Amino acid sequence: MSRTRTYRCLNCLEHTETREFDTSHLSVTCPNCESFERFVNEAVYQQFRAFEESPPGELDWERLDRTEKLVVAERLARSTKTIEDFAVVESNRDGGEDEDGDEEGNGNGDVDKDEDESAGGPAENPAEAPTPE
Ligand SMILES: [Zn+2]
Repeated sequence: MSRTRTYRCLNCLEHTETREFDTSHLSVTCPNCESFERFVNEAVYQQFRAFEESPPGELDWERLDRTEKLVVAERLARSTKTIEDFAVVESNRDGGEDEDGDEEGNGNGDVDKDEDESAGGPAENPAEAPTPE
């Protein structure tokens, strides 16, 4: 019942290993080329190959080195990312929401009322100065 995953040697691109777990890559010694190599998930490799044969227009695929290409292929094959996530620089669109907070600080009614009792506001509002008696 267990689903096996295929991993391909990135050095010789010929030898594959199968594992019963699913991960992006393995690091094992390849019996074919006899070196300790990264084996990539076959799904990642297929994505990589697809781009090699037909480079995506959204990316400057040819300018990436192989490692970078594999990173992109891995992200695409193993996540919900799309090619646009790599090609487009997201623009920050923070609205002016934060400015709402300032308006509450502008309320000056409370402070003025308290000062009227003691220091009084005759200088500011002579007409409204309370007259004793
Ligand atoms: Zn190999």
